[in-house]
Amino acid sequence: EKHGGLTAAAMVESALQEIAYFNEVNFGAIKISVKASNVPLMVEAYRMLADTVNYPLHLGVTEAGPPPAGLVKATAGIATLLMEGIGDTIRYSLTADPVEEARAGRQLLEALGLRERKNVDLIACPSCGRAEIDVIDVANRAMKAFEDKKLPLQIAVMGCVVNGPGEAREADLGIAAGNKRGHLFVKGRNVAVVPEDEMVDALVEWAEFIHEHGTDAAIARADTARAEREAARDRSQALDEKGDDANNASAKIVEIRKTVGND
Ligand code: SF4
Repeated sequence: EKHGGLTAAAMVESALQEIAYFNEVNFGAIKISVKASNVPLMVEAYRMLADTVNYPLHLGVTEAGPPPAGLVKATAGIATLLMEGIGDTIRYSLTADPVEEARAGRQLLEALGLRERKNVDLIACPSCGRAEIDVIDVANRAMKAFEDKKLPLQIAVMGCVVNGPGEAREADLGIAAGNKRGHLFVKGRNVAVVPEDEMVDALVEWAEFIHEHGTDAAIARADTARAEREAARDRSQALDEKGDDANNASAKIVEIRKTVGND
């Protein structure tokens, strides 16, 4: 009532009252949580609390709901605070298998660089008119294949050999599709070519090799000259077939200009 409803100030005042009870009995081994299911509210409450007390804070968006919306809500709140240096422990409260909650928490900490990476960081292009495979399908199959493997590597699944290896040159390992084949690359260097239906298996085999021996050894064992030649061939075939405007961008620009009345 005093605060006119559930506000960040009311939540912090309530937390301070609870802290006072512990102070009365000289018990200081406590951790404070002011979770809420409303993301802006919980972010504001934790910020106020962090400005007020020095106790460790336990972060969470309570009753976030089922994924994917629940995952987005929880990540929005928890990640915002962690990036500001607020928070000591976290909890994803999803309407899902608790294993999913723990996995999401671990992935968030790895993504923010707050935990040493133990699992694959799978990146994939969004796909476009140049894509020569179903990127979503291959990325999902790769995700499944790496799910239980403890490989702290960044691995890329890219839809075309025209731009894929360049766009993902920082990845430890990647694969890009072209002419019904998968072009494997390590740190942007082409290392091998495999049939399209062996792309995921090849990724797993190379990832395990890199994990054990490193990227330099992976490049050293490859016939890079041949792999680069094959990639160049498929790249130029793709450019011949689709031209350099595979996404039909020029026509779209004309349409947009017409729509906004600039033409
Ligand atoms: S250009 Fe190639 S790598 Fe980039 S988004 Fe399109 S398909 Fe993916």
